[in-house]
Formats: sequence, structure tokens, C-alpha cells
Amino acid sequence: MHKNIFSLKQDIVAIGRRVYERGYVASNDGNISIRIDDERILITPTGVSKGFMKPEDMAIIDYEGNLVSGTAKASSERFMHISMYKARPDINAVCHAHPPHATGFAVAGIPLDQCVLPEVIVALGSIPIADYGLPGTDELFKPIAKHVKDHDAFLLENHGATTIGHDVLNAYHKMETLEHFAHILFVAKSLGRVNELGQKDVQDLVGLREKFGITSGASCNIAPQNQTSSSSPVQPANVNSNNIDKEELVQKITDAVLKRLNS
Ligand SMILES: [Zn+2]
Repeated sequence: MHKNIFSLKQDIVAIGRRVYERGYVASNDGNISIRIDDERILITPTGVSKGFMKPEDMAIIDYEGNLVSGTAKASSERFMHISMYKARPDINAVCHAHPPHATGFAVAGIPLDQCVLPEVIVALGSIPIADYGLPGTDELFKPIAKHVKDHDAFLLENHGATTIGHDVLNAYHKMETLEHFAHILFVAKSLGRVNELGQKDVQDLVGLREKFGITSGASCNIAPQNQTSSSSPVQPANVNSNNIDKEELVQKITDAVLKRLNS
């Protein structure tokens, strides 16, 4: 960790304010954490509005959930955060909130897995729904476990959403992308039509993920009528192939995506 703990606390305060101001939580809902090192996690306190936290409100816990330092009681969802860090050594932050559109999909039982928006396909692939688990217990994480290796954003059935990232801003941005996607899809569904991208377009977008350092493997689900050949899942384009110039290929794909967006 390059940053000191006080500055990490300030980062959580700033993200908490954004989560609250954007209406992603009500009352004292939501929780945010940062992995300090392999012994400690910095996490928001329970019973405090995420929009009005101070750095000194933060709790530091160990990987058993015990309070290591701080005076506040650590979030009741600390076990979900701990399990996330154990399952994904590559991530350093977790953000949990109840953004209304995304949570609406989680209540309706509709995963955000359609191939619709290029940014979402590149940044998140798709967003599955984890089955309901009792909030505030380790039951909450169990249904997430089967999705956690392949995804960075999750809907929690009849509850809310959780995102993970390499730092707390990255995890928060995924929450924004998830909610924005849910909002747009909700509008399109209200208008009565959702045009999905076809297999070739999705393939091109998945190929861009490596360029942006995105490692989670999930792709959106291509609708059967939009598949060009087999029904095999989309694989990332082999941009490491020796006989293809990587930059040239990325440029080609970017041009294709822009052309598609402008058409
Ligand atoms: Zn919650």
C-alpha cells in the first residue's frame, strides 16, 4: 500500500459522500472498505450515514472480523467484504449500496447481462444476480461466491448491489456504471424495445478489455438471433498473437466500435 491509513480513511469519506449524494443509499445503508494489507481491512462504521462520515469514524478489522482499532462498530456486512478479499487477491476495495434502478432489477430477478452498452461490456462484461442471503450474516456472501471469480459487479437478490475494484474509486465507478446501465435499460424497456449488439460487435468489445487491464472474464449473453455462428461463449480476441500487431488490432477494433456507435 502506497497511501497511509489516514489518507485511505479520507478516500472512504469522499466515496461515501458520493454514494449518498447520488441516492445509492437511504438512511445508514451501504458500506465501503479498503484492504490495508494482508492482516487489516479499513471499513465504514455501522449506524452512520455514508454521506456524513469523518475519517475517525472508520473501523479497522482483521480477516476474522474482529475490531483491531477505532472506536466505532464495524459494518454489519464486514463478512461479505472479508470474503471478497479472500476470494479475489487482485482487488483492494469493496463498495456495497442499494442504487434504486439496479436494486429494482435485483428485486425483479432480472440480471444485467444483455449485450447493450459498449462501455458496460468492456468495463463489467455482465452483472449476475446472487441469490438472496440474509444481510448482516456470512450467508450474504455464499451465493456471491459462485460468481466472484468472473465478475466485478453483482446484484444481490432483493437487496442491492456490490462492486469490487483495484482501489476504492475504481470500485465506486463500477457502482456508477452498474446503476447507469440499469437506469438506461429500464428506460429502453419502458419504451418497449431493447436492441442488443451482435456477436461480432461484442467480440470486438471483449477484445478491448485487455487494453484497459480488465481481467475478470465474464461476457454478456448474446441473444440467439444475434449469434453469427456457433453458440460458444465469446472469447477475448487473441491480441497477443505473434503475427498480429497489437496496436494495429486495437485501432481496428476501436474504429469498428466508433463506426457502430455513430451508425
Ligand atoms: Zn445492503
